[in-house]
Parts: sequence; C-alpha cells; structure tokens
Amino acid sequence: MADAARVTVIGAGPVGLAIAVVLSRRGTDCLLLEKRDGLSTVSKASTFHPPTLEIFGNFGVLGPMLEKGRKATHIQYRDPDGVFAEFDHALLEADTPYPFRLHLEQSAITPLMADIVRGSGHGEIRFGAELQSLETLEDGVRVGWSDADGAVHHHDCDFVVGADGASSTVRDLLGLELEGIHYPGRVLRLVSTDPIEDYLPGIGQISYVFDRDNRSVSLLQMPDCWRLIIRLPAGFDEDEVVRPEWYMEELHHFLPMLPERLTLRSHDIYGARKMLASSHGNDRVFLIGDALHLTNTRGGMNMNCGIHDAWVLGHAIADALESGQPGLAEAAAIARRRVAEEELLPRTDRNVAGGPGWLDEVRRRAASPENAREMLVRTTMLDMAPPRDAQNLQPDTRMTPAQTIQPETAK
Ligand SMILES: Cc1cc2nc3c(=O)[nH]c(=O)nc-3n(C[C@H](O)[C@H](O)[C@H](O)COP(=O)(O)OP(=O)(O)OC[C@H]3O[C@@H](n4cnc5c(N)ncnc54)[C@H](O)[C@@H]3O)c2cc1C
Repeated sequence: MADAARVTVIGAGPVGLAIAVVLSRRGTDCLLLEKRDGLSTVSKASTFHPPTLEIFGNFGVLGPMLEKGRKATHIQYRDPDGVFAEFDHALLEADTPYPFRLHLEQSAITPLMADIVRGSGHGEIRFGAELQSLETLEDGVRVGWSDADGAVHHHDCDFVVGADGASSTVRDLLGLELEGIHYPGRVLRLVSTDPIEDYLPGIGQISYVFDRDNRSVSLLQMPDCWRLIIRLPAGFDEDEVVRPEWYMEELHHFLPMLPERLTLRSHDIYGARKMLASSHGNDRVFLIGDALHLTNTRGGMNMNCGIHDAWVLGHAIADALESGQPGLAEAAAIARRRVAEEELLPRTDRNVAGGPGWLDEVRRRAASPENAREMLVRTTMLDMAPPRDAQNLQPDTRMTPAQTIQPETAK
C-alpha cells in the first residue's frame, strides 16, 4: 500500500493521526511517517472540547475515551471569599450532544487513532522515519525520508501534510517562518494524586483561584490526579520553585485548606507562545496543528484546533483526489490558517490577558444563563469549529461560511 499512498503525513502526534484517520476512512491511501520509534507518552493536552468529541464520535473512539476520561462539567472562579462565578456546561445541552469538556491525556487517544489507521486497509504508519527533503514534481511531491539505520527512501505522492509539531521540518523545508511572540512568564505544573476535592468540597473540575491582587493558580481535575498550575514570578530560580517549601507556600497563599504537603506524580516548568506559520504551505504541501499555530495552554485549545484542521483538510484532500480538483485541498488549508489567525490566537490571548476588567466580565456573564451560555460556546470552541456531520456535507460547506473560500480564489 505504502508505494501507492497518495498522501504522505509527517508526524504521528494527535493531529497527524487524526488526518490519517479521516483519509484512510475515506479510502484515500496514506503513509504516515514518524521520526520517533513509537507514539509519544509525554503528558501534554488534557482537554477535549465538545466539537472535538463529536469528531472522535465520528471516528468511533468516543466510547473508550468517555470510559477513560473525566467529564468536566463546571468551571469555577474563586477568590478568598469563595466562588464568585461558576459556569455549568449543562447550558450547552441544545448546542452539542456532549455538553462538557473531557479531561484525558492526549497520549490516551493516539493509540486508538493509530489502530484505526492500521485497521483501515488504507493507511500505514512507519516509525523511525524522519522527513529529510521535499521536491516539487509536476503533479505532486517527492518525499525523502530516512529510516532508523540512516538509509534514505523516496516516495512520490499527490499531497504532503506537515503535522510535525512546533519545530516542523516541513515548515523549514518550505522556507516558512513561525511568526509571533513568547508570552512573558513561565508556569510550574504540579501533578498531584491527592484528592484535592476533599479539601475543597464542591470544587469545579476546572477552577481558577485568585487572590486580592488578581494573581491566580489554576486547578484541573484529571481522571486520576489533579494538575495544579502556578504562574512563576519574574526572575524565578528553577531549583527553588520545585522545592516543596516554595510551591506549598505559594499554594497555601491561595488555598490555605490544602495539607502541609502534596503527593506529586510529576512536575515541570514551561512557557507559552503565540505564533503562526507565515503561510499555509503551497498548492501540494500543507501545515496543520502545532506546525501551523501555537498558543498558550490556558483554555486548552491548540490541539483541539489541530484536530479540527485535520478534520477539514482530510476531507478536502479526499474530495480533491476524488474529484480531480486539487485546488480544493489548498483552499481548505488556507481557510484553516485563517481560523487560527482570526479566531484561535486572539481568543487564547484573551485567556492570558486576565486582569480586573476581565474578572468583572466573568462575573457579569456568570450572572445570566444567556450570557453564561454565550461564554461557554466560545470557551468550548463550538462557534469556531467546522461542521461535524461530514457525511451530509458538500465539499464547499465543510467549513463554516466565514471560513469558506472558493478554490479558484484560494491562491
Ligand atoms: C503542558 C501542555 C498542556 C497542553 N494542554 C492542552 C490542552 O488541554 N488542550 C489542547 O488543545 N492543547 C493543549 N496543549 C497543546 C497540545 O499538546 C499540542 O497542540 C499538540 O500536541 C499538537 O499536536 P501535533 O500533532 O500538531 O504536534 P505534536 O504532538 O508535536 O506531534 C508532532 C509529531 O511529529 C514528529 N516529527 C517531528 N519532526 C518530524 C520529522 N522530520 N519527520 C517525522 N516526524 C517528525 C514528532 O516526533 C511528533 O511525534 C498542551 C501542551 C502542553 C505542553
């Protein structure tokens, strides 16, 4: 099959696997190249929003996901006086069959998608396969990749999808830039197996806890642990902030009811970027997921948006090949970059900006079910996600009207 594959996907992260699922289930032969020797097990994304769950429902993996994950129904904002705003996803019952966020490690879903690709008869995954070169052919692309022994192989195909993450080789080979900023400040993420809910009865599965100066910590309840996010002060000492004396004092400042020490499974320090590739790619090679856009982790949207990229572009590529209109694929890639630029990046920027004005806004919205629902529609990405009922859609309606670009005007 690999020799006949019409699409080569680079990168077996959640986004590359998602597009391989869409393509292979449409009967489009695809070859997925991954430089690692297996799927990543690193703890990264935790949040799956309702439209993404609808896509996973279409893939047929939602059952196991719901079994393994934790339904997060309530977002709470707290200050020293208690809960000052709360949002219940039940308000979204008329908007989605899944009125909740699902908290689950992204590494729990990648094997499920890999199984679908392998079982489809239209997809092949090669590990230890690192992209080295891209050469433009008259009607396609020649992909050069090296195997684990360093031997170089070539594969000719119609389209290449760069889902190869933040340091994308595809992006580099196309000579594109990743433009944007590093957000100032870094965060310390603690993963605790202690039952935080016992110390804070009634705590929402997503909680933002503020002090009187509007500094905050965030808490996320995973299926078997809590993630606690502490924003680190400027000029922090990396060795100092991971000492229990430091982080427990910081946590007690916000949450005095926590025990003297927490049991930690892991901790890490990371920063965030707001960046976008300078172009979607070209007429045969496209960027999606982290290769195309990077955002801060607040609100948990970047992988979700990448899965939506995969959903739209996968169908568009299959349509392009079935109809003999290659421009359909590029139109979709351009549209997805526009969604990242006009919706994703400004929205996640808002999540970081915070500040007293924002909290007043949060209070105001929580006070009315109508405003609260409107906010939840935005925080769950329901207003920026593509339609999910692919079977019933025509190719040019696979994007929302604002995202739709006619192929002939795409270039
Ligand atoms: C702490 C943290 C929390 C997060 N939380 C959330 C969240 O809750 N919700 C959310 O939506 N997002 C979240 N994110 C972001 C999310 O993890 C990423 O958006 C997601 O991993 C992107 O998936 P991807 O498939 O595009 O890229 P990646 O996961 O980076 O996968 C890219 C793959 O390409 C492979 N590759 C790279 N170069 C080559 C090459 N030359 N040849 C072959 N293969 C190659 C890599 O080995 C890798 O396997 C979080 C991120 C972090 C760090």
